[in-house]
Amino acid sequence: MAKEFARETICVQSGWKPGNGEPRVLPIYQSTTYKYETSEQMGKLFDLEESGYFYTRLQNPTNDCVAQKICELEGGVAAMLTSSGQAANYYAIFNICEAGDHVIMSSTVYGGTFNLLTVTMKKMGIECTVVDPDAPEEELAKAFRPNTKCVMAESIANPALVVLDFEKFVHLAHSHGVPLIVDNTFATPINCRPFEWGVDIVTHSTTKYMDGHAMCVGGAIVDSGNFDWNKYADKFPGLCTPDESYHGVTYTERFGKAAYITKATVQLMRDLGSIQSPQNAFLLNIGLETLHLRVPRHCENAFAVAKFLEQHEAVAWVNYPGLPGNKYYDLAQKYMPNGTCGVISFGLKGGRKAAEKMMDHLKLAAIVTHVADARTCVLHPASHTHRQMTDAQLVEAGVAPDLIRFSVGIENADDIIADLEQAISSIEK
Ligand SMILES: *Cc1c(COP(=O)(O)O)cnc(C)c1O
Repeated sequence: MAKEFARETICVQSGWKPGNGEPRVLPIYQSTTYKYETSEQMGKLFDLEESGYFYTRLQNPTNDCVAQKICELEGGVAAMLTSSGQAANYYAIFNICEAGDHVIMSSTVYGGTFNLLTVTMKKMGIECTVVDPDAPEEELAKAFRPNTKCVMAESIANPALVVLDFEKFVHLAHSHGVPLIVDNTFATPINCRPFEWGVDIVTHSTTKYMDGHAMCVGGAIVDSGNFDWNKYADKFPGLCTPDESYHGVTYTERFGKAAYITKATVQLMRDLGSIQSPQNAFLLNIGLETLHLRVPRHCENAFAVAKFLEQHEAVAWVNYPGLPGNKYYDLAQKYMPNGTCGVISFGLKGGRKAAEKMMDHLKLAAIVTHVADARTCVLHPASHTHRQMTDAQLVEAGVAPDLIRFSVGIENADDIIADLEQAISSIEK
């Protein structure tokens, strides 16, 4: 599209652009492979001299249309889909780091990302320093080393609901000559576009609001195109020096602003193979078509639920960054003035026991591991995802033993509140 459309229009119209007589709806290119007339044409594809599809592990037309839509939603220059949010975060970091390098990461990131960096990538020789995102910039700056290659954080942390101070983190990363990677899963580009604040790379677990129906696990990486890799060429040899596995192509020279995503596609996706299935990309696209309608409704309902919980005498505390008085309210107003997300956490005065009992009485809200889809759902980390930990370990991990994670759906808010009300009143009985 020549003119930049508003996000609502991008959700509905971007990506698939049918030609005359072609299907109106994005087709599922359910094909592993693509036909060519001559052997020479195929050879040029393998040398990256011409662009074209040759094998779905690298690229698929259905996936590319959906990646293009997400790219436009974020206001980036290039994007790719991955099989999961985990794969997206792994590729986003591994694309610019190798054994001997170092990453700085916010302590409040999603548990899967925390493990990826502190356990699995550590085994690959990539060190990670975990920092408190609320620490002053001078304090955070002490974490940098000569081999630091990027800073990683989340726009709204899952499940801590910490809102990132974008300006502080952008300044921190750029004053040390490295890009800032932000996982924008919870805010979505409907509520927050990190590139507008100077973030360089955005990742997504599309499994959450983007899909929105709890149908498909998926991920995406988007590049702003703004980080000047060549300025710090010594730090990023993978992008700025020849790749012998492609007859000496230098990605920044040949692909300009598309260098980062091109490398992640033709090198990491080629060798590690976490492609999203075209069938899943098709379903993701349907989710994206209504993202701009669902996200405001999630936020509206979550706000109503948070207000209800806040005044309830059996509730000990409520954490929702959209609630005035919340520690992150001002940051949320600044960076996501139209809303934050649909996820709330809270604790009951009766503690852990009361939490378990209350959840068993919920009728509308289902107990599931998932978050951020159309149906209201609930999880008690101390009894589920973190159940092997003692109460002391839970507190250390930032997960209070009484913490209930409540993912507010797009049903009628009064029905969700009535369900909570009857479940909470059942504790006393
Ligand atoms: C769920 C989630 C992930 C992991 O995504 P999967 O699609 O489950 O692999 C990463 N980051 C955040 C913020 C998430 O919520």
